[in-house]
Amino acid sequence: MSFPKIRDITFNILKTCGISSPPVDLGPILKHFNATVIISGHIEESALLRAKKGWRIKVNRQLREERRSFRIAHEIGHIYWSTPDHHLGDPKLGVKLEKYCSKFASLLLCPHQWFVQDAQEADYDLFALKKVYTNVSHEVLAFRLSHLTSMVVTIYDNGKLYRRFSSPGQGHPSQRQKPEQEVYEAVDLYGDYRELKGEINWNGIERTVQVRGYPVFSGNYRRVILLTKPVVSVTLDESEFEEDMPYPFPEY
Ligand SMILES: [Zn+2]
Repeated sequence: MSFPKIRDITFNILKTCGISSPPVDLGPILKHFNATVIISGHIEESALLRAKKGWRIKVNRQLREERRSFRIAHEIGHIYWSTPDHHLGDPKLGVKLEKYCSKFASLLLCPHQWFVQDAQEADYDLFALKKVYTNVSHEVLAFRLSHLTSMVVTIYDNGKLYRRFSSPGQGHPSQRQKPEQEVYEAVDLYGDYRELKGEINWNGIERTVQVRGYPVFSGNYRRVILLTKPVVSVTLDESEFEEDMPYPFPEY
């Protein structure tokens, strides 16, 4: 089940439920699928249960709002594919279902058809997009941005590298480069947005890039997200998206 296929599935669900702008309200979608949400303390993250009429989705009350929305949307994916007609003859559905449901969740909460336009209007700025897609995490938004324009995404949690990846098919220097280091240190120290232009060696080519650094701090938790984007942007080959996601899908 490719990315474009799932984005059509989720977009049709939104249309059926009369949802036309972000943030996506899961209420009408839950109603459409005959599902109710139960907030529980006795569950790791989320679970899907059959009810007399329809479904019950249990979610842990300690999850952050974005995480909770993502888990609920993921479980809605399981409900959707519990109908054999929705399998579209995909032989991998069984083994890939968890990944599919996470793609489903990402695309349901952040529909590609809206995001492609909103991201461009926001000049690919993470904070501007987060103000609109309030129930989608910064991490998922960064991941999705990397599908729209060529960039490297680097995420640090409490001073440690958590993940570094680039747009599909683009490749990237495995080590952080000087301008990235500088932006990271300033954001981590001052806790505010920073940006810098600089040169990095990207696949053997010296490229001028813009590095944007976003603090996503919460209490003592310090997450920093860097978006490294070539100043002369590179067009992405959408056919790459047919492939499965190259990284474990973010769920935060
Ligand atoms: Zn699942």
